[in-house]
Amino acid sequence: MEKIIDVAVNYPFYQTFTYRILEAHKGILPGMRVIAPFGKKEILGIVIEVKNYKKTDRFGYKLKHIKKIIDAEPVIVDEILKLCCWASNYYQYPIGQVIFSAIPLRLKKGGLIDKIKIEDKVNPLSKNLRIKLNEQQEKICKSINTKLKTFNNFLISGVTGSGKTEVYIELTKKVIRNGGQVLIIVPEINLTPQTIDRFRKYMSSDIQPYHSSMTEKDKMIVWKKITQSKTDIIIGTRSSIFLPFPSLKMIIVDEEHDSSLKQQEKFKYHARDLSIVRAKNLDIPVIIGSATPSFESLHNVSINKSIKYELTKRYHKTSLPEVVVVDLNKDYPVNGISQYLMREIKMQLEKKKQSLLYIGRRGFSHALTCSICRWVSKCSVCESFMAYHKSIMTLKCHHCGNNQKINKNPGNCKQCDLIPLGFGTQRIEDKVRDLFPDARIQRIDSDSISNISKLKKFVSDANENKIDILIGTQMLVKGHDFPNVSLVGIIDIDSGLYSLDFRGLEKTAQLVTQVSGRSGRKYEKGKVIIQTRNPSHPLFKTLLKHGYERFSQEKMIERKKSNLPPFSYISLIRASSKNKQKSYSFLNQLKNDFSNQKSIFIYGPAEAPVAKKNNMFVHQIILGSKSRVSLGHKTKEIRQYMEGKKLYNIKWSIDVDPIDLY
Ligand code: ADP
Ligand code: ZN
Repeated sequence: MEKIIDVAVNYPFYQTFTYRILEAHKGILPGMRVIAPFGKKEILGIVIEVKNYKKTDRFGYKLKHIKKIIDAEPVIVDEILKLCCWASNYYQYPIGQVIFSAIPLRLKKGGLIDKIKIEDKVNPLSKNLRIKLNEQQEKICKSINTKLKTFNNFLISGVTGSGKTEVYIELTKKVIRNGGQVLIIVPEINLTPQTIDRFRKYMSSDIQPYHSSMTEKDKMIVWKKITQSKTDIIIGTRSSIFLPFPSLKMIIVDEEHDSSLKQQEKFKYHARDLSIVRAKNLDIPVIIGSATPSFESLHNVSINKSIKYELTKRYHKTSLPEVVVVDLNKDYPVNGISQYLMREIKMQLEKKKQSLLYIGRRGFSHALTCSICRWVSKCSVCESFMAYHKSIMTLKCHHCGNNQKINKNPGNCKQCDLIPLGFGTQRIEDKVRDLFPDARIQRIDSDSISNISKLKKFVSDANENKIDILIGTQMLVKGHDFPNVSLVGIIDIDSGLYSLDFRGLEKTAQLVTQVSGRSGRKYEKGKVIIQTRNPSHPLFKTLLKHGYERFSQEKMIERKKSNLPPFSYISLIRASSKNKQKSYSFLNQLKNDFSNQKSIFIYGPAEAPVAKKNNMFVHQIILGSKSRVSLGHKTKEIRQYMEGKKLYNIKWSIDVDPIDLY
């Protein structure tokens, strides 16, 4: 019988396209790339399915023959195809674009794997240093070790500094010894080098990084080594979930609460959730770890979808830091630093200890204004302010990338009196340099640390005590292990206390716990100073007195009462148009057309948090349901509805399980 094939292409289509094949193409398999005629062009596609051609089949178009098969063997194995199809359907993102986002650029462009040279495999167990686990670590490993044969979802909830990584290493060794491969996902590129170093300390396996700032060539090498089982372990960012391991036997997701695990643009997948799906498909264990587990993961434990293990003590026997809340209404800050914080930093300097100051924003200030004419640095194409980057005398919009040199009189005055509004890392850095001219100060944010080698240098400087004060954003805090830090200052927490997002407090609590966790990890009990204008906020009461666990339990009760995730499921639909009314009416119409549905609720339409971006007005609606299945169906129906409208002046997007609603 004649065979036909379904092909996915790298364009925004939700369906695949069917082609005939020539006699010479009989060996064709799913996962191979082909060149196929497409309209007037010839394009690259990937075979999704090979089927029998029945004369009775109707396609609505005349079947053409493909021109050529590129590969002798599939570049995408069945397992990954299956994962991609699942993700395409779950996240309602075009199948071809899902698949093409799962392979390196070279393969996307039709390049061949065979051209890449790789070395031979090393013996993974030649260096096999034993880790001396403490009692809690040992217990967890023993228990999980007996359950490695099948799918299981394990949550390791371990306080900061408790040695989760050592548990991961021990379990990984066991899996490698049995001939398996292991994937370890971390939320940030910056965390890959140090995690790799820690693994390499104990094993001589081939351990490779995989993330977006590697060269295309290096990505291809890693890709090929994996497919040939010459790499045992990958430590990578979210995109490594799609790597084609032939014998993947365990997935580990570290810092699972971290929102960077969710891709925020285009194909909006969550690497933790896909890890669970992939592990289930393969019937292998997935281990997710955090000091501050997401409510979703905690909920999974309470409905027995996940098994929780706890590490309650720090490995180096320092106790968790003392936390002091400074009331900024009484201790008035000068350029962001209260008297109390200043004195404490000074004491650390005298003791030759490190201080770490956390501030959520980069740049000097989040806006600039003139005190006379009231001019403010608004972005010309977004509903947003442009941040002031003092060192380069530039205003930057962090939403659209708009850049603008500052002229002396941007407003209507003869001589504008420009003052910065709010705080960014650079402003705190300036102030701290002013206060402590002899201290060695390093700022860490995406402006100052632009590549991995700079990051490595900074990490080693910090560890060798060549820095006295570290000032930085998230980048400084996430998962790092600086043994010499004994004071942590959180400069401004208030914006996180009154966020509109229902996850606002969850995120703030995670942040406070994670940032605090950088203090006093090795040598002595550390201290944390939180500056706030709202010292009586309930977050401080529960979180600081009773810890994250108790805080999350209390908050989960509220979530349940108000039927919010993880007790319901939501999809976020955004529409944007040049004309403000258009995207609004589009969503309003959609809401009306779907209003008689029992299983879902629809909120909105409302303006998106950044109501105008790049000259486009953005509105959003939220779909919600108690049932994940119903929500999935409706999201799909709505996607089809929107697609069917073919409105070229309205752009829309779907975000299933969004993590940033506002
Ligand atoms: P977490 O990731 O849980 O915050 P880490 O894994 O960074 O904690 O561990 C904290 C510190 O304790 C690290 O310096 C780590 O090397 C050390 N550590 C943890 N467990 C062990 C162990 N079994 N043997 C030696 N050092 C350990
Ligand atoms: Zn802008």
